[in-house]
Amino acid sequence: MSGFDLLINQERPIRILTTLLKNRTLPHALLFTGTAGVGKQAAALALAMACNCRGETSGFIAEDGFEQEPAGPALELCGVCKSCRKIAANNHPDIIQVQPRGPFIKIEQIRTVLQTLARKPYEAKTRVVIILEAQCMNASASNALLKILEEPPDRSMLVLIANHRSDLLPTITSRCQPVQFNRISRKRIASWIVKERGLNPQTAEIVAAMANGSLSNARTMIDENWLQGRKWLIAELQHLSLQPAARLLALAEKFAREKESLAGRLEIIKSWFRDLIINPYDRRKLINQDVGDRIKEASGKTDTRVHLSKLEAVQKMQSRLKANTNLRLSMEKLLIELAKP
Ligand SMILES: [Zn+2]
Repeated sequence: MSGFDLLINQERPIRILTTLLKNRTLPHALLFTGTAGVGKQAAALALAMACNCRGETSGFIAEDGFEQEPAGPALELCGVCKSCRKIAANNHPDIIQVQPRGPFIKIEQIRTVLQTLARKPYEAKTRVVIILEAQCMNASASNALLKILEEPPDRSMLVLIANHRSDLLPTITSRCQPVQFNRISRKRIASWIVKERGLNPQTAEIVAAMANGSLSNARTMIDENWLQGRKWLIAELQHLSLQPAARLLALAEKFAREKESLAGRLEIIKSWFRDLIINPYDRRKLINQDVGDRIKEASGKTDTRVHLSKLEAVQKMQSRLKANTNLRLSMEKLLIELAKP
């Protein structure tokens, strides 16, 4: 049943899907939108299971089971019949997931879907095609998909998944029924971390604060030893203004080279300067609670306006990261700016 534990705080979208299922009014195409990592894919798979379940539906609760919460709505599926098990194991021939190859979903991928849809499903009551990161379809792929949406085949359903509705062409979105997924509150992510991963509440709070409303971010952060990297980075930040220029340049080179960690590192740097600004006003609101004493010390050393301009410099770098310009040069500039007393 992997993946279903991700459906936290999604009572409303689950209720919409349950109602569509019960009333047998599921459309040919759905569009799931919402922040990355809040359970859209897990919900699409749960829906595929519910549409195809052949077991005695015992009312599986696609919920996190938090006892203090009222039981949420449930997609009825047994989880143990052949169909449910095949979908859970990702080897059901009629449940098709399409995801970007490189930066794009290409027309060949959508053409393959078209060919599949032209045939009858092998065994499913309802064949489900899930298009992950649908915003990555290039123009020709989008146009090919439009053909499917205009003439939807029988016994088939399309689920498009994207962060924002506006990332897709209006000709596509207008043909899909939208289902909006919620961000997950910091509190719920933190209690999930404590319960499922056994971290102490203070550490869980920090991860939750940095996970940006996404449970899968939180999972990745814990699995990829983000806390260890953060500890190192905060020690660097604390002593940045004491470092010689050569050390700053070496650090910039390291950041630019380890590109896959850069976005996460910039978030940590941002949280550090944010905390330096907040510290004099409300220490309970600090993100980096575990290094509160170091924040207090660094915060008092310099004027708030200086911290603020450094925070802005980090934010500028974050938008430059998306534009993918010369990272090393940009990081050098940034670190020199951040090291100013
Ligand atoms: Zn089943």
